[in-house]
Amino acid sequence: MRSLFMKVLFVLVAFTAVAFGQAAPANRTASDAKSRPLGQALANPALTAADTPILSLPYTPGLETEFMDKSADPCVDFYQYSCGGWMKKNSIPADQPSWGVYGKLAQDNQRFLWGILDDLARNPSGRNPNQQKIGDYFAACMDEAGVEKLGANPLKPPLDQINGMMSKKQLPALLAQIHLRTEGNGMFFGFGSNQDYGDSTQVIAFASAGGLGLPDRDYYTKSDPKSVELRQKYLLHVQRMLELLGDLPDAAQRESAGIMAVETALAKASLTRVERREPHNLYHKVDLTQLQALTPGFDWSSYLKETGLGQPDTFNVTEPAFYRELDHQLQTASLDDIKNYLRWHTVHSAAPFLSAGFVNADFDFFGKTLRGVPQLRARWKRCVGLVDRQLGEALGQEFVSRTFSPEMKQRTLTMTNQIEQAMTADIGQLTWMGPETKQNALTKLHAVVNKIGYPDKWRDYTSVAISRDDFSGNAERAAVFESKRRLNKIGKPVDRGEWSMTPPTVNAYYSSRMNDINFPAGVLQPPLYDPKMDDAPNYGNTGGTIGHELTHGFDDQGRKFDAQGNLKDWWTARDDQDFEARAQCVVDQYARYVVVDEIKINSKLTEGEDIADLGGLILAWMAWKDQTKNTHLQNRDGLTPEQRFFVGNAQWACENDRPENLRMNAITDPHSPGKYRVNGLVVNLPEFEKAFACKPGQPMVKENRCRIW
Ligand SMILES: [Zn+2]
Repeated sequence: MRSLFMKVLFVLVAFTAVAFGQAAPANRTASDAKSRPLGQALANPALTAADTPILSLPYTPGLETEFMDKSADPCVDFYQYSCGGWMKKNSIPADQPSWGVYGKLAQDNQRFLWGILDDLARNPSGRNPNQQKIGDYFAACMDEAGVEKLGANPLKPPLDQINGMMSKKQLPALLAQIHLRTEGNGMFFGFGSNQDYGDSTQVIAFASAGGLGLPDRDYYTKSDPKSVELRQKYLLHVQRMLELLGDLPDAAQRESAGIMAVETALAKASLTRVERREPHNLYHKVDLTQLQALTPGFDWSSYLKETGLGQPDTFNVTEPAFYRELDHQLQTASLDDIKNYLRWHTVHSAAPFLSAGFVNADFDFFGKTLRGVPQLRARWKRCVGLVDRQLGEALGQEFVSRTFSPEMKQRTLTMTNQIEQAMTADIGQLTWMGPETKQNALTKLHAVVNKIGYPDKWRDYTSVAISRDDFSGNAERAAVFESKRRLNKIGKPVDRGEWSMTPPTVNAYYSSRMNDINFPAGVLQPPLYDPKMDDAPNYGNTGGTIGHELTHGFDDQGRKFDAQGNLKDWWTARDDQDFEARAQCVVDQYARYVVVDEIKINSKLTEGEDIADLGGLILAWMAWKDQTKNTHLQNRDGLTPEQRFFVGNAQWACENDRPENLRMNAITDPHSPGKYRVNGLVVNLPEFEKAFACKPGQPMVKENRCRIW
């Protein structure tokens, strides 16, 4: 992945169709929307300019000299030189944990999608079935007064079910229902489907670790004062949510302590994020009898029956030690402990769909305390985000038809092919890799499938009923649809056309099981890809992203899967050792960088992303050099073409961050902070040293350079 935005489920931007040629018209087009009033949002004088829908996106060029700080020395701090102006001009909005080029683009996209959804919500006539669903979902979500009036009522049926449990024997069937309603959100554990690591043509059931309310197991185990303080605040938050359900303060306090004890035990039995980077640590294939033996106190047959799966007989238990502890917890906990745990996680996962008391309490802890965000996002942003999350490919069709032309798709495909050719050449000339491994690497490289823009076949939402006056019901039905869609894949042929990001997303990814790279339409827009700009910044920026995703197939994790996406060693022992030694160079380099205060980068966690960043930039450079080899390139804006390549690359990563958010990212984010995603790369490139005439001994010139791909 290029950024962590996927996690936040941001929605993306459209640039105007003019620059890319007109996209195929949808039933409703952007110009339809233009002729319609956008309603109260525009009429309300209390709203700021940023709180209005937009009909086309503001253009930001792919290389902006105003975003640079030319008073900084590029050989001393290249990030400051490339991004200093951007950081000065773009303070963090009150509702954001951080602010960067990707986040800004995502917010512009959100405003564009808002216009589409607002129109579909207000003008029901002539909508096609998908437009009815996203329009009415949005209308129901925006009906704040209706949501307020209901208060905690939407929680009554699930809470009655939990309170009505007479014995622990009823837990498996009940938990299956809850998992379906919460998209396998991990109450006690996670359950879903995935490709078999050993045979990527098969989809099998995956039982994974889960059960936590805090974002990572480390939050429960770290003993530094900040972590201890945060756990105290979390306890108070759980207590507050239980009180919102009507529990008396004393009882809620006692109950939250019991919940914390269960979560802490599960956290301690969970692998760390670094341990989870090793796929062998997560691959334990068992049959139903073996699964049942792992958790004698939990009846899997009744759980599976309730999911509608019947009796599958192949499971990957990603973390067996976790399941042994889970069984211990379920056996020793009282029925009341279990009910309290379920009640807390039910209100926690439903909070975004409930009245203001729940929304605000949830934000106070997970936004303010955990990430330092002062202000809750406006309702329209949350609603656009939820449509993208729950009906993403229906919304994505509207986005693509307005913003993503066949020309744009072709351009990106051409650049992708060039980056792949660069990697072919690069592998051929590696000095540390033997011929046998090289052959296998090339076979894998040539098998990578390039998916650009949007899926060839759209997801069918026909069976999801969406009504314009039932927000929480819509959310539940959409969640059950998605849970069942995932589970129904078990035992069926793998759908290689499937996407796991929605088209408006400002991000991209590589899948080691599919052996494919995926670029949503949302990330292929200015300023990341700018058709008006010269090649240098475009190759530096989007070329670097393509190279980044491609290199993931060959990073510490991806290299363990073969061309077919199977977990299979294709390395000679010597080449394996050489790779590890070269990767260690990157790990050692990033381990020295400070994230915030006393916290340094956990570079075993960021290893794959750091390797992908470095490989991506080298491949983009090679592809750009090849593309322009017979062209006389001009200086522009006082920069040489080579300098434009590097500044163009750096300007994707400009960002400002809140210290609280940096603390969280240091634990949970496999990406290094933006500053090091720029400076950490260029120090390793002699091409950079030459482009800016840096001298040995300067900070941006590293003595012992790291180089893998
Ligand atoms: Zn990545």
